[in-house]
Amino acid sequence: MNLRTEYEVALAAVTRASLLTRSLQSELAGQAMSKGDRSPVTLADYCSQMLICREISLAFPNDGIIAEEHSQDLLEGKAPGMAEQIVAIARREADPAADLQLAFAWIDHGRDVTSSRQWVLDPIDGTKGFLRGGQFAVALGLMIDGKVVLGMLGCPNLIHDASHSGCILGATLGGGTRQHALDDPLLFRAISTSTVGSGPELSFVESVESGHSDHSTQDLLKDRLGAAQAEPVRIDSQAKYAVVARGEAAVYLRLQSPKTPDYRQKIWDHAAGVLVLTEAGGRATDQFGAELDFSAGATMRNNTGVVATNGVCHDEVIATLQELQK
Ligand code: AMP
Ligand code: MG
Repeated sequence: MNLRTEYEVALAAVTRASLLTRSLQSELAGQAMSKGDRSPVTLADYCSQMLICREISLAFPNDGIIAEEHSQDLLEGKAPGMAEQIVAIARREADPAADLQLAFAWIDHGRDVTSSRQWVLDPIDGTKGFLRGGQFAVALGLMIDGKVVLGMLGCPNLIHDASHSGCILGATLGGGTRQHALDDPLLFRAISTSTVGSGPELSFVESVESGHSDHSTQDLLKDRLGAAQAEPVRIDSQAKYAVVARGEAAVYLRLQSPKTPDYRQKIWDHAAGVLVLTEAGGRATDQFGAELDFSAGATMRNNTGVVATNGVCHDEVIATLQELQK
């Protein structure tokens, strides 16, 4: 499958959205409105989605898009002035003639389109991290017939190398994973996972938000694996997949939180990150070892939790978890 054009379009769109959101991160200084599910959303979430959906609409007008945000939330009057700010950014970044209707049409573009090709977008994954000045990700995936074939993860606050802060990790199915410098995307290198198999060298990465995983089972698991000393790196967003894909941690645990036993993962929180990881040599399944099913709509109702690893230690991690979950 030749996905060269898709890769170029995704890289350009995620680069623009990552640069914009990074500049807004300092300007917004923690300003957010609350959505119906009480999760926060900011001007930057909408603008990132607007720019990316517009680019997809221009390049692939018939493709569907499953994206986290809806312009409808803006009409409910919870964030006075935000719609006007979005139009101002649409005029500056996309089309000087843009108005509210056009800006909202871009935000909602591709929703409910029936197509074998569906893009999956989290315009700012880790909004809480974004608001606290930490890690966040612009996450764009492409699914064809329910299978993720492309993943593009903009990580504006993850360093690329000593002279470039901010990177974008891109992968296509069978094509490996590349890491591009955010401020110079033509600069890239192939990346791969670590080869640590077991024992005290196993390193872990997990959410900052304690409600997004099951920490007591995680502690037991680390103990059983002989890695009890390893303090996990805690970062927001799919930047966790990037950290495992680059070989800086061996395991990313996202076990079903006992506080929210009915919660099911959303595809936009995983599609791009999982391909970036697996193409770098890693593996991702649910916490029972089942393959991740991205074909069931926005919610991953056929899976419970996610375990992502460097690949080498995956079977041992799942087998140990199974013993704990008996
Ligand atoms: P993270 O930054 O990895 O903690 O993940 C942020 C994402 O967690 C958000 O985009 C939400 O979609 C998702 N989320 C919300 N509630 C839960 C929950 N109870 N368990 C797991 N993930 C959740
Ligand atoms: Mg998210």
